[in-house]
Amino acid sequence: MATLSLKQVEKTYANGFKAIHGVDIEIADGEFAVLVGPSGCGKSTLLRMIAGLETITGGEISIDGRVVNNVAPADRDIAMVFQNYALYPHMSNYANMAYGLKNRGYSKDEIDRRVREAAGILQLSELLERKPRQLSGGQRQRVAMGRAIVREPKVFLFDEPLSNLDAKLRVDMRLEIKNLQKRLGTTSVYVTHDQVEAMTLADRLIVMNGGIAEQVGTPIELYEKPATRFVAGFIGSPSMNFIDGTVSDDCSHVVLNDGTKLDLDHNVAANRPVVVGIRPEHLSLNTPSNSKITARVRIIEALGAETLVYLNFGDKNEAITIRMQGTHQFETGAELVLYSNPQQIHLFDRESGHRI
Ligand code: ATP
Repeated sequence: MATLSLKQVEKTYANGFKAIHGVDIEIADGEFAVLVGPSGCGKSTLLRMIAGLETITGGEISIDGRVVNNVAPADRDIAMVFQNYALYPHMSNYANMAYGLKNRGYSKDEIDRRVREAAGILQLSELLERKPRQLSGGQRQRVAMGRAIVREPKVFLFDEPLSNLDAKLRVDMRLEIKNLQKRLGTTSVYVTHDQVEAMTLADRLIVMNGGIAEQVGTPIELYEKPATRFVAGFIGSPSMNFIDGTVSDDCSHVVLNDGTKLDLDHNVAANRPVVVGIRPEHLSLNTPSNSKITARVRIIEALGAETLVYLNFGDKNEAITIRMQGTHQFETGAELVLYSNPQQIHLFDRESGHRI
């Protein structure tokens, strides 16, 4: 059990490229933290620095209060689960799980106890004598997790462990990982570029963008109060609608390009250029309000439990998406009136992208 602390952590690669620009994160004992962000934002770099696989070129990383900047990976008391499993193909699953313990000089009995206990937790008991190639992708990933569990480390690090699995298995394994982490109570850091995976797994979410931690919070905090337009667009699926507008003279509403007026519930300066953010699930066809956008249906996606409708509005054919519960039919080109609620409107500064 351990806390993990990153203070002003920086990474400049040997070629001079600065991949991490001063990241501060405190992860509590037993917490499941997820690093999420688009490709190239620095997630893997940060995880590899925690693991000791990359040098730290600025700041400090501490595990349980001990600065580990110059501690070798093997001495950091962490275990990492990789995307490609990294199992030895010629060894049995048992031997794969036992390998790290054997190297560390544990007794045969202790190794056997730990491997069988982990196999029990992961439902691998019947598969221990097989080789990795005789397993399914999901079972192989479980062996990889078993190898991490038997070490009884202070911190688990996961680097996109589910990316090689098909969609259904990803969901199953996601639940298994969440259950396992809660059961073991081991502080964990998990990297993914999949925002749904991030939302469902995280106690705390760290949204990375261009080498900085753009926002840190619970999944619901980030969904309800995204600090920037970037976070707002990244968290939530389908993505939040963003529409340019200008705050009215009396600050009571925002005027969109086509003249549409949306009521505001914000303390914001008159005539300020803003970006309005409205989640697709917060536009309604049947809860009338003063704030209405008239839009034309472009495409419908019927998903059974919900329907996504992609529309255009105004002279510039701006795109807008709504998400409705259940199944609905509309003709392409049909005009719909979309109502918004002032309390569910997000405003961002047009220049900086910061929340207003
Ligand atoms: P992905 O989801 O695609 O794996 P990521 O968020 O994990 O992306 P990183 O792999 O951490 O991103 O890379 C962050 C940035 O650092 C990228 O711009 C990448 O090109 C750069 N980078 C990574 N490794 C090196 C290296 N050894 N030398 C120079 N630049 C590197």
